[in-house]
Amino acid sequence: MQVDIDENSGQGGFGEVEKFDELKLETGEVARLAILVSQAAAYYVHELKPVEIVGGVIQMEVKNRKDKSTYEVPKTGWKGRRICTGVTEIPNPADPEHPLPGPMQLKGIDPENCIVCAAAAELGILELRAILRYAIPVVRITTTSRSSTDIQDPPSAKICVLPLTALQYREFATTLKGIRELYGWGPEVKVTPSMADIVIYCEDAGFRRYAWRTPMRPHWRKDPATGDLRNPALQLAVLGLWRNPANRPTAEQLEAACGRRTDLAFLQADLAEVIDSYAEKKAIEAGERTGGRTAPAGTASPGTDASLAEGLDDLESILGDETPATATAGAAVDGGEADDLAGLEEFAPGEPAAGNGNGHGAAEPASSPADDIAEELGGAGEAEAAGADEGESFDDILGALDGLS
Ligand SMILES: [Zn+2]
Repeated sequence: MQVDIDENSGQGGFGEVEKFDELKLETGEVARLAILVSQAAAYYVHELKPVEIVGGVIQMEVKNRKDKSTYEVPKTGWKGRRICTGVTEIPNPADPEHPLPGPMQLKGIDPENCIVCAAAAELGILELRAILRYAIPVVRITTTSRSSTDIQDPPSAKICVLPLTALQYREFATTLKGIRELYGWGPEVKVTPSMADIVIYCEDAGFRRYAWRTPMRPHWRKDPATGDLRNPALQLAVLGLWRNPANRPTAEQLEAACGRRTDLAFLQADLAEVIDSYAEKKAIEAGERTGGRTAPAGTASPGTDASLAEGLDDLESILGDETPATATAGAAVDGGEADDLAGLEEFAPGEPAAGNGNGHGAAEPASSPADDIAEELGGAGEAEAAGADEGESFDDILGALDGLS
């Protein structure tokens, strides 16, 4: 990673990465998204949340389920999300293209290489275990209102980062199946996110609860089934925006949308606070102190068992964690230095004009994002052929699109 050298260097450890705008929706708002990448940034992160204990009393808070019933959990503070330093991939000399799975992929925990993983394992603090977070650069197409998917005229668009939890990411992946249904394609067609507009609906802004609506036929590119380009002005807006790398989040910014890195001293201090709070919580629960759990007035709705609810909550987080197969499906993560979207710059056309005949100058290995995006855009009008043309560059595709539009 790279960090800025300025007068505040070192304040928070490595220094700050300026955040890229994230997609933020209000409750009831929809967003129509064009997703021009087929890889997401994926990182294991630890959420550092000390339990709030006041005067020997564990503070509780009430949470709402989707069905409006309530349950209570220990209230926690927030020290932030830290990138796990556990090893996700091990170099494979015999086959460099296919690294071997590391402890994170195999077990979701790596006490030898991450002090937070070590604390989670040694102290049995489930809440400290690493979870997967994802970040995807998306183009949000401006619609006529917050609740409408109708495209505004004249068209405009904005690039933002869509951060997702592991569960949200799985639901998003399921949405891709909707693209297949939209066009009535069989399993032989490889579906990629840019083949349809992804529609996300915000059920609850406070909890960032999203629902994925049925994907819609894209108006900014040629319809993968009919070959029609419905809205050339929108295509200019979307591709014009996307073409310029300066408009897109950097690999560092995508990582920062998942979690931060701080240096060891800062991490140790924050971690110690969390560990202490859990030790105190345990002691209180064991009745070794005079305090006890608070009983917030009017929180326990009939039929709601708080401890059961807690258990379910834990189960959710376990399920969220222990999905190594899913973890690798989205993108390869490499404990630290790797950005799966490190290739972002590679498929960024240096100049909008692709006529230099050198679209492969900085080409990554065959599986780089450059090839993916080429593949996606290349699929316009000929989706059945998707999967071919690994060597085709983004520049070439854009050039071709220019010619056709
Ligand atoms: Zn870790």
